[in-house]
Amino acid sequence: MTLAPSVIEAIGRTPLIELRGASKATGCRILGKAEFMNPGGSVKDRAALFIVEDAREKGSLKPGGVIVEGTAGNTGIGLALVANAMGYRTVIVIPETQSQEKKDMLRLQGAQLVEVPAVPYANPNNYVKLSGRLAERLAKEEPNGAIWANQFDNVANRQAHIATTGPEIYEELDGNVDAFVCACGTGGTLAGVGIALKERNPNIKIALADPFGAALYSYYTTGELKASGSSITEGIGQGRITANLEGAPVDIAYQIPDDEAVRVVFDLAQEEGLLLGGSSGINVAGAIRLAKELGPGKTIVTILADGGARYASKLFNPEFLRSQKLPTPPWLERTGKIDP
Ligand code: PMP
Repeated sequence: MTLAPSVIEAIGRTPLIELRGASKATGCRILGKAEFMNPGGSVKDRAALFIVEDAREKGSLKPGGVIVEGTAGNTGIGLALVANAMGYRTVIVIPETQSQEKKDMLRLQGAQLVEVPAVPYANPNNYVKLSGRLAERLAKEEPNGAIWANQFDNVANRQAHIATTGPEIYEELDGNVDAFVCACGTGGTLAGVGIALKERNPNIKIALADPFGAALYSYYTTGELKASGSSITEGIGQGRITANLEGAPVDIAYQIPDDEAVRVVFDLAQEEGLLLGGSSGINVAGAIRLAKELGPGKTIVTILADGGARYASKLFNPEFLRSQKLPTPPWLERTGKIDP
């Protein structure tokens, strides 16, 4: 479709891009669903749209109402664009630790930002819990009311992937898909795509690629939620079984260290022309591990969740990388002085 009645219809139907380097290195066909090509620049546009449409249908979101959400940024950006296109306002609660680029983008869109200290989920002042309480208050104070998007436990999120992302992958490949792998923030993408693919063919393997600091790798391998370490990646790394993750059909789990993920991010930029964020590095690193485990000849799909420009000040900043003891590619150090 090239003619969209509004930006809303431009969400989804993203290309599946063959990752030639990863495919060649493993003998598998590794494909990345180009979710960074959504209008808001990430996979979360899909969830944002389904959450807003669900609230409209249920009547909880009234014309001119306010949408409140706690987000690492991308869901907020998706909600803000959907809200602006449909006549709502957004109030976004975001942990201070998230990249400046995402916060700037939210401000440019007119979202009201509430920056809060990053504290664990168990703390009552965690950004997710704060956003829920703020939504409750604004529902009473705002003339047109307010809703809490609640992406973690609102299953309209995973429904977006059951209804769109999963079927798109299956249909684009005429069912010739052996496995799907991705990381989890809310778990909406992994669970939703997993459910949609398993419904069509239960032999398709579903795998989790977890960053350090998250508890899901331990959950899917030992049954116990246990986190260790930390990661510079943003938007992923879950410590609990959210409503979106309940019953997710996960067959295999990997834990991917940051140095493995950032090397993949830099290879994708230099070898494929794909400038992506850290979670895409975790995802493609997971696809490479899965390819090695399943053996050559398989078709493996993963998610290219958002673009690298969103993390210029961190993931692509040599000083930041050195401070984290992560590899710094020579092209980031180039001063670029050429006499004209
Ligand atoms: N990658 C990025 C960059 C994200 O922002 C998110 C969502 N926070 C994810 C991956 C994970 O998606 P999901 O919430 O569907 O698990």
